[in-house]
Amino acid sequence: MTVTERGDAATPETAHRITVRCQFCETWNRVVAERASDRPKCGKCGKPMLIDRPIALNDDTFARTVTESEIPVLVDFYADWCGPCKIMAPSVDQLAAENQGKLLVAKLDTDRAPRTAQSYDIRGIPTTILFRAGKEENRLTGAAPLKALQQLAGV
Ligand SMILES: [Zn+2]
Repeated sequence: MTVTERGDAATPETAHRITVRCQFCETWNRVVAERASDRPKCGKCGKPMLIDRPIALNDDTFARTVTESEIPVLVDFYADWCGPCKIMAPSVDQLAAENQGKLLVAKLDTDRAPRTAQSYDIRGIPTTILFRAGKEENRLTGAAPLKALQQLAGV
C-alpha cells in the first residue's frame, strides 16, 4: 500500500517553499508559498499558519525563516512605542495580504530581538529590509508609504 502525503501530488516542481514556525506550538513547517491562499495548517497542531499577514520574527526565528525562504522576505524592524511604525503598519499588512505566495512579509520587534537588530545595524525605526536568498538586498529607513514598500519588494 502506498502512502501519499496530502496534496503532494499537486505540488509542481517549480513551487517555492518557505519555512515558518507555528506561532501556537512553535513547530517549524515547510509550506508551499504558492498555496498560501489555501490557508495552510501546522503539521503538528493543525492551527492555521497565517501567512496572509505579517509574521512575527524574533532572535530565535529570524535567521532560519529568512535563509530558508525561496521567495523574497520583507522585514519591518519596528518597536511598540514608535509612532511612525504604527502609521506604517497598515501598509505592511496590506503588502502581506496582496502578495501572499510571492513575498513573505515579517515584523521584528527591535526591543525584543536586540541581537538581530544589532546585527543589521538598525539605527532608526521603522527600517524595512528586503532579503533575497537570505541576503539583504535593499533597505528603507523611516515610515514608507505602500508604494515605496512595493518598490522595495519589487512587486
Ligand atoms: Zn502548530
